[in-house]
Amino acid sequence: MHEQSDHQAAHSGSQAHSARVYDYIIGGKDHYEVDREAAEASLRAWPGLRTSMLANRSAMRRMAHWLAAEAEVRQFLDIGTGIPTEPNLHQVVQRVAPQSRVVYVDNDPIVLAHANALMTSTPEGLTAYVEADMNVPGDLLCAPALHQTLDLDQPVALTVIAMLQFVQDAQGLVETLMEPLAPGSYLAITLATADLAPGSDSLAAEYTRRGIPMYLRNRTEVERLFNGLELVAPGVVPMTSWRTPEGEQLPSTTTNMYAGVARKP
Ligand code: SAH
Repeated sequence: MHEQSDHQAAHSGSQAHSARVYDYIIGGKDHYEVDREAAEASLRAWPGLRTSMLANRSAMRRMAHWLAAEAEVRQFLDIGTGIPTEPNLHQVVQRVAPQSRVVYVDNDPIVLAHANALMTSTPEGLTAYVEADMNVPGDLLCAPALHQTLDLDQPVALTVIAMLQFVQDAQGLVETLMEPLAPGSYLAITLATADLAPGSDSLAAEYTRRGIPMYLRNRTEVERLFNGLELVAPGVVPMTSWRTPEGEQLPSTTTNMYAGVARKP
């Protein structure tokens, strides 16, 4: 654990936080005792969680790569970024197009403490970090760093990876953030469901009990998040099969997440 600011210490005290629980489970080093306890309890509730979380990082990279290489998007707004694990989204997309610009957003002070690692842009591109609570999306839309980094008159990919399960009004959040984006923008989502892996529904209860309210969505609810947008193939699918190379696909029961990408007409 790095040295803590007062701000961080205030957050570290008694409550687990999703970024740090995730970091512990995928083998990172930024977590407190309370996060480790929540993580171990969650793994007991559903032992497949580690595999699914690692598969989520892979899905993020496949989606980011597709958006940069196939959809040729050059601007990215990533909300619920998490503690950096290499390669991060900006590294994936800047390898395809070094001029890519990325704004990262999170509300965990630990992610803020790592913001420098998220800012290692290519000289041709640009990255920025905004600390904002996505339960109040208007704050992000007003953030100077957002407008200094991204040109909202040009297409932007809004990437919301493994974070909507922590937001009660996921539909409202997605609609609010897609609304100001230009035609040709994209929405990329992975989020938790109880539809796929047997027993994974107990995770939501465990997270919620530990102070991290978690909301699981079924397939219909996930598809509704893409209302008014054009889903790209293969549509809303178990995360492990979103454009996974032949031979690398894990069974859908190994994940508790759906994935989908859609284009704003
Ligand atoms: N997108 C990353 C991390 C997912 S973990 C990945 O897929 O690997 C979920 C992240 O969402 C955490 O970093 C957590 O801090 C963030 N988060 C949860 N609720 C949030 C909120 N209301 N506002 C901003 N970020 C939030």
